Amino acid sequence: MINLRYPVNYIIITNEFKNNHQAIDLGWHRKYGGLNQNIYSPHDGVVISVVNGKKNNLVNKTDPGNFVKIKHNNELTTRLIHLLKDSIVVKEGSKVKTGDLIAKMGNSGYALGNHLHYNVYLNNKKVNPIKYTYAYKNQIISDKSKNKDQIFYYHEEESDFVYQVKNNDTLSKIGNLYNIPYQDLADYNNISNPNLIRVGQEIKIPKFILSSLLKEGSRGKYVKELQKRLNQLGYNLIIDGIFGIKTKKAILDLQTKNKLIIDGIVGKETSKYLGWIYQNK
Ligand SMILES: [Zn+2]
Repeated sequence: MINLRYPVNYIIITNEFKNNHQAIDLGWHRKYGGLNQNIYSPHDGVVISVVNGKKNNLVNKTDPGNFVKIKHNNELTTRLIHLLKDSIVVKEGSKVKTGDLIAKMGNSGYALGNHLHYNVYLNNKKVNPIKYTYAYKNQIISDKSKNKDQIFYYHEEESDFVYQVKNNDTLSKIGNLYNIPYQDLADYNNISNPNLIRVGQEIKIPKFILSSLLKEGSRGKYVKELQKRLNQLGYNLIIDGIFGIKTKKAILDLQTKNKLIIDGIVGKETSKYLGWIYQNK
C-alpha cells in the first residue's frame, strides 16, 4: 500500500469521514496560504479527470465544482474538490509526482466556505482518507484539527551512518571512535576478516548498542529508542517506553516482511536490521 501525502501543507480536518460525508474536509489558516492555500498531488499518478470553470453554487447540494481526479495505481485514486476556478495547473493525462502543485483551494460547487473536499477511492469505493494519508515532513497539523490523534506521520527511513576507511585505519581504531568493539563492527558489516579492510571501504556504523533482549514486558529507554526506530520505518507507535502488544505486533510484522526469525523479540538479528548492535553478554 502506498502512503498518500496530505494534499495541503497546513492540515486541519474540519469535517470527518462518515456515512453521509465519505471524504474529509481540509480547511485553511491565514498564516499558511490563507483561503487559497496550494493543493498538491497526494502521490505519483496520472490525472484522469479535470473539471474547471465552475463557480460557487449553493443551489445544488451535489455539485462538486472544480475538481481533479488522480489515479495513483490500480487500487488507489484520489479526488480533490471545490478547487478555485482557473487555478488548476494539470490536464487530463498529466503525469504527476507526490507533492506536485495541482491547484488552489476554493469554494466552487456546493461549498459553504473555502475548503478541500478530499476523497480517497480504494478499488473504486470511497474509503476514509485518514487511513491512507500521511503527514510528511514539513507539513503542519493544526491543534484544532478533528481526528488529530488519528493522523499518521510518514517517517522517511534514516540511512546508516557510513565511515570511509582512511590510511592506517584499523577496525579497532574505527571501533574506538564510536565506542563499538571491533568484532561487533565486523559482524555488523559482514566482514569475515577484521584485519582486512582497505582505504576507501565504507564501514556502516550502527546507531545504537543494545545490551539486553527486548521483548514483551520490557520497559525503559531502550524500548523508547525501539519505538522511535519502528516509527521511522512506518509504524505508528506511541513512544512510551513500554513493550506492549502493539510494539510486539510491529516487531512481528517487521520480522515477517523482512524474512527474519519471527519471534516478536529484538535480539541479534532484528537489532541488526534496525541498524543497532546487540551485545550478548
Ligand atoms: Zn466535504
